[in-house]
Amino acid sequence: MSNKIKLNLFDLKSKENLQNIHFFFKTKINKWFDAKGLPKSEFFEYRNCPLCDEKSSNEVFAIEGFSYHKCIACESLYTKPHLIDGVLDELYSDGTYQHYQDSLVKSGSGLRKGVLEQRKFKQLQQMFSQEKLTLLDVGCGGGTFLEVCHENGWKVEGIDPSPDSTNSKNIKVQHGDFNQIKFDKKFDVISFWGVLEHLSNPIAALKKASQMLNKSGMIVFEVPSADCFLSEYLNKTTFSPTRYIESGRHNIFFSKKVINNISQRYGLSIEFIESNGLDIQTILLEEFSPEITEKIINMQDTINNLMLGDHYRVFLRKK
Ligand SMILES: [Zn+2]
Repeated sequence: MSNKIKLNLFDLKSKENLQNIHFFFKTKINKWFDAKGLPKSEFFEYRNCPLCDEKSSNEVFAIEGFSYHKCIACESLYTKPHLIDGVLDELYSDGTYQHYQDSLVKSGSGLRKGVLEQRKFKQLQQMFSQEKLTLLDVGCGGGTFLEVCHENGWKVEGIDPSPDSTNSKNIKVQHGDFNQIKFDKKFDVISFWGVLEHLSNPIAALKKASQMLNKSGMIVFEVPSADCFLSEYLNKTTFSPTRYIESGRHNIFFSKKVINNISQRYGLSIEFIESNGLDIQTILLEEFSPEITEKIINMQDTINNLMLGDHYRVFLRKK
């Protein structure tokens, strides 16, 4: 397996950009809550666990008015009540969010394409005997993962809800909702990088993807973990992190248990799972100093090796 990257969060995203985007949301979301800070019913609704449909859950932490619950059955975390579909869209409409998001992504774009996307490509390539694969990247955004796979000879296409997502001449990208669009072909790989946690129904997307795979094809996804060091830390403190939680945007945090359940449900097997977190630098954001970078990165590497990093990367194979 391709070696893990010991990543410095601040090579990827600047402290200032992380704080700007966090502050932007903090100030914009006030109107969703009443004078006591409780969610207003016109913006929120109650639901069962979005991953297993269990009704019962317990609050594990509350951040910026949002309450995060752990499902008693599958151990995932989700916002309860959760923001009604469409409410968030208004925040995106004036372009401020996009401005912050662009600067956030831009600062680390060389590292992203040259190192991180390369590793994703290599990890997948190693799992197949044939060299030229077909790929659908769901939520392809700026398209850097598609470009890397395309440059390596794969036949790739993408789909993304944003009309501002990639418009490369060589790569087909459809703009729309994956769950709504009909595909008349199958793929060797369907990827969801940082996508499922944003959806109101990630299960429908995974089910659909499992039916669109070639024989021995794979679904790969990266999602925030419900089992991580950072979530346990949030349970014990009143800390409000600039990443991982992303109030209103990240609605679902996957447990290892539910990943097992989902793969069984749709005839998939877990080929490989790893944890890729940036828990420590996220906690130390304000106090972080460059002199301790090496120590922090080594601590984080240890946390990741214990499978306690704040994101899971999961490779599921069609049986
Ligand atoms: Zn559940």
